[in-house]
Amino acid sequence: MKLSLRDLDIKGKRVLMRVDFNVPLKDDGTINDDTRIRMALPSIRYVLDQGASLILMSHLGRPKGVSNPALSLRPCADRLQNFLGRKVALITSYERAKGIKIGEVYLLENLRFYKGEEHPGEDPDFAKSLANLGDVYVNDAFGTAHRKHASTAVITNFFPNKSVMGFLVEKELSFLAPLVTSPKHPFYAIIGGAKIGSKIGVLESLVSKIDAIFIGGGMAFTLFKIKNIDIGDSLFDDKMMDKGRDFLQKCRKKGVVVHLPQDIMITNDKENRLILATQGIPSGWRGVDIGPETLKEWEKFLNKAATIFWNGPMGVFEVASFADGTNQLAKKLSTMPADVIVGGGDSVAAIQSLQLEKNFAHISTGGGASLEYIEYGQLPGIELLTNK
Ligand code: ADP
Ligand code: MG
Repeated sequence: MKLSLRDLDIKGKRVLMRVDFNVPLKDDGTINDDTRIRMALPSIRYVLDQGASLILMSHLGRPKGVSNPALSLRPCADRLQNFLGRKVALITSYERAKGIKIGEVYLLENLRFYKGEEHPGEDPDFAKSLANLGDVYVNDAFGTAHRKHASTAVITNFFPNKSVMGFLVEKELSFLAPLVTSPKHPFYAIIGGAKIGSKIGVLESLVSKIDAIFIGGGMAFTLFKIKNIDIGDSLFDDKMMDKGRDFLQKCRKKGVVVHLPQDIMITNDKENRLILATQGIPSGWRGVDIGPETLKEWEKFLNKAATIFWNGPMGVFEVASFADGTNQLAKKLSTMPADVIVGGGDSVAAIQSLQLEKNFAHISTGGGASLEYIEYGQLPGIELLTNK
């Protein structure tokens, strides 16, 4: 177990806290979705209630080590100021933060304006200059905890015994850790989306924990291909054929049933059709969603689950006519008795657009981080924090 913010006496201290304010922006530069700022509020309010001063740090977007006004954290400072009802100063020259007083809140300008954030080896002094600003270090940036950056990893070297997790990280772990260590069975995983290359590791590590797996989205077609079913022009990753075969074999050995879609929505960009998967997809056509029979069949199993982990949309859900599979699945899952835990940027977006967030046991704020946690059972930014 790691030390938590609650375990430290922070009265009168300067608290240096890494948060994940990497919010999606609209074209006009305003905030599109402030979920990530809201999720950090419990830790932020706690620090201020304890009579400490607070220096927040975050990245936004990918400025690649160069200052870029379009990626300023100014909109986040303003939004946080509204939430807190007290001044939040945006600090462009970090040295100035040394003068912070009790009760004040500073937000350091985008960490990734400096090369040393993402590439600590190229500028080892960067982490040290950040560390000089605080008396204790809090990591509450779950969405960035899989990165070994200056503000998420290296900085812990300067706070032996005083590197703790914030409440958001604690909450994420309280839902994700049991999936890895002691899930309630039956435990089913539903995996979709497009990135089979980056998700195959997660699939493999899930095999030893789950009772069955349901695979939809673009991921499914590489597996159909392995089973010698024609996939037409569907999404397909040639490099994943061997890994996919290994995965299927591992599942067979462990007795984990792999459910693939039974019916598929296909398109040739002029016309859409619903076909049975076993028919195969003709060339010129590609699979873009799972069909209603698939959902009916899957539902029978999923209804019996105690735990479900869902990552990745079931189809090209950004296009309204290919969103049914994902949306219907989200609706069904929202009413099921199982604890349903959702990770992954796009799957979470689908649930949010249906306003179903409240009906899920846990919606992770970190897409990549939640998957890496399930794959490896740990995250570098959390592993380096002080042990209890
Ligand atoms: P998440 O962010 O939830 O982890 P991914 O990023 O892996 O999910 O995948 C999301 C993307 O997968 C979406 O943009 C969606 O359009 C795409 N996708 C889903 N099904 C298919 C499909 N059948 N063919 C092509 N792309 C698909
Ligand atoms: Mg995604």
